[in-house]
Amino acid sequence: SPLNFDSKIIIVGAGTWGCSTALHLARRGYTSVAVLDPYPVPSPISAGNDLNKILELGSFAGDDEEERYVSNKLLEAATHGWLNDPVFKPFFHETGCILAATSEEARAHMNSRDGPSESDGWIPLKNKEDFMATMPKGVLTGDFPGWEGWWKKTGAGWVHARKSMESAAREAARLGVRFVTGEQVGQVTGLIYQDSDIKGAITADGTSHYADRTILCAGANAAALFDLKDQLRPTAWTLAHIKMTPEEAKLYKDLPVLFNIERGFFMEPDADNHELKMCDEHPGYCNWTLDGSTPFAKHQIPLESEARCRAFLREIMPHLADRPFSFARICWCADTPNRAFLISLHPEYPSLVLGVGGSGHGFCHIPAIGGFIADAMEDKLEKPLKQSFRWRPETAIGRDWKGLQGRFGPEGANRVMNFQDIKDGQWTRIGDSARELG
Ligand code: FAD
Repeated sequence: SPLNFDSKIIIVGAGTWGCSTALHLARRGYTSVAVLDPYPVPSPISAGNDLNKILELGSFAGDDEEERYVSNKLLEAATHGWLNDPVFKPFFHETGCILAATSEEARAHMNSRDGPSESDGWIPLKNKEDFMATMPKGVLTGDFPGWEGWWKKTGAGWVHARKSMESAAREAARLGVRFVTGEQVGQVTGLIYQDSDIKGAITADGTSHYADRTILCAGANAAALFDLKDQLRPTAWTLAHIKMTPEEAKLYKDLPVLFNIERGFFMEPDADNHELKMCDEHPGYCNWTLDGSTPFAKHQIPLESEARCRAFLREIMPHLADRPFSFARICWCADTPNRAFLISLHPEYPSLVLGVGGSGHGFCHIPAIGGFIADAMEDKLEKPLKQSFRWRPETAIGRDWKGLQGRFGPEGANRVMNFQDIKDGQWTRIGDSARELG
């Protein structure tokens, strides 16, 4: 049926992109939008339910001119939102960013054509002293063995992820979007196939939610709800928190993000609980089962990931390297074969809209991504965007499921790993008591 402002629209998934889409549709004047999710915002399994994320620093486009145009377009729109939209503005911290690498191969990647350069305002960092000078005395105390990098003081930084997602949902709800959440009433178990089209979604309580347009924004779980023809590879990364003292939190305030592309990254501790979040970097974990890579929730990380986190800390902040973690979890995202987003109408089911494929860099686009998803629904995406975001199963034929996809890890973890290889006793055991330490 032709689209109008009273069309019934269902969004499957109230995560990062679902909340953004809900907000943009409501702002455009759509009056009948509902979002289904097993959990109220912030969903514990949403990749966006996190203290912080990096505002994308460059393009992931390689040498392709059109992809470069698309990355810039996306980044411009996101940055505009972070700087101007009252829904998101309070959660952007323009503290700058440090990008670094250690091995020759990773350095070459970092310094490739789209990488940082002095003409773009980046300051080269050549040695330990250079790195130390980017933060107040006492923060960086390590030896930075083999590190080289770049520092950008403005136009980059971090965003408070959970708070910006909640803010988007709150504003969408205020504008009339209905959030239907709960493991029975909100969990989608399948789509409604009718008349060679998709006519809505079915939830665990057996309800059929009929809709004129169905927008799939279920993140890493989207592939379980609809056959995406191998275009999505659910992949998880690992994060951990360290509790800081109030004095440390003061010293660590307003730090630039520090990201070594083969070690990991950290940002300043959060203002509410003084927890410093870090991620160890690697090409990701899949969970290979007969159904493909299957996401599961876990508030622990493999001990090997803990060891990598601590090795990273030992290089930069050895004074924190042995402090217990107060929290850790695995966090699922989904990679397309080229890490470009998949935001498109479906060629065979005219009422289905796909908003998936965050590919590890989908959070920082929350201010604007819903607008692109709405454009896809209205079939008015600009040509290069439409081309980049298109349904492209031909690119996933014979997909290399172990592909590094442009990522690096330290020795031993410079590969896509498999959670099936992690035995029961090989996970952290962070309990509530650990939360009180520090
Ligand atoms: P999600 O936010 O995961 O949302 C999916 C939603 O679908 C969830 O709310 C879930 O509850 C819901 N859902 C699941 N199953 C169902 C169902 N059956 N029915 C209904 N709803 C369902 N990006 C950046 O830009 N910068 C970063 O620094 C960055 N760091 C990252 C670090 C880690 C550790 C990870 C894992 C990702 C990172 N990303 C980063 C990527 C970014 O977080 C994701 O690309 C983005 O959040 C994906 O958004 P999404 O809406 O597709 O998925």
